[in-house]
Amino acid sequence: VRGASRSLALVSVGSILLVGGCGGSSLPTSANGPLLRVLSVVSGGDEDPVTGATLVVGGHAYQTDGSGHVSIPESGAADLDVQADNYLLRQTRLNPTDKRVVLWPLGPGYRSEYVRSLIYKPSYTTSDVLSSADDVPSHHVTAGRVSLVPSAGIQGDAAAVRALDAAVAEMNAVTEGHLAFTVDTRPVGTVTFRLSVDSSIASAALTWRDVRASSITGGRICFQSFAGARDPHYVTHELGHVLGLEHSLVPSDMMYFLALPTSPRHFTENERISIRLLLQRPPGNRYPDNDRDGIATANAATGSSVAVD
Ligand SMILES: [Zn+2]
Repeated sequence: VRGASRSLALVSVGSILLVGGCGGSSLPTSANGPLLRVLSVVSGGDEDPVTGATLVVGGHAYQTDGSGHVSIPESGAADLDVQADNYLLRQTRLNPTDKRVVLWPLGPGYRSEYVRSLIYKPSYTTSDVLSSADDVPSHHVTAGRVSLVPSAGIQGDAAAVRALDAAVAEMNAVTEGHLAFTVDTRPVGTVTFRLSVDSSIASAALTWRDVRASSITGGRICFQSFAGARDPHYVTHELGHVLGLEHSLVPSDMMYFLALPTSPRHFTENERISIRLLLQRPPGNRYPDNDRDGIATANAATGSSVAVD
């Protein structure tokens, strides 16, 4: 968190069909025809079917019907592109057992630029306009648990403990059961973040993330003073970085790059949808929504540590 000037004070039904219909679509099959499979295309926001989506696979285009279903020929693994109004272009690898495709929804106030900043732009490059820095692959915690280990100083400060508890509750709510954030006196599980107060850091709060093959594997969080450690917004914002978020362009968001007196204690709806989709995708997803081209990179066993404020 960068304090805004002096503000720290306080500032589908997928199935293999030989014959028959699904949602009214007619399937041209016979003993001689190609075997068809039905894919269901749904919105990652509300699981609603996506009608009129165009799927390109094997050099042919197909369109979803009124139930979000589409029949395509059986095949082995194949590249798949899915385009639909108000969704990010999805580029993925379709496996023979896949039954549905989940698209990343957009909407008023939730445009591609928003997602691009929050997920794919290095946080330290974000200001009030979309960063011109290169997009980076998405990264997030893939282990089921994040163990937060506060320093003795934080453990002994009642207000800091309350702020951390509030932030943990918020993280557990927005990750919808996919991750468990816990406060522990010693590390539990594989992903640990240590929290401390350190007056020597250059920002009001800083988080270092260790990243391996686009998975966040641990790190630490420092607050410049107890004023930050006691502020639920500051603590929750840093835990947003722990999860894998970068910075938002929207001042009313938890992940806005500046802390303001009006900064929220809860993630906004647009941030919650972003978190849901981020966790549904494998780490290493590429903007706009491509988990096909980055797979080789994501599998590389390289580690790095990234600091975010
Ligand atoms: Zn930040």
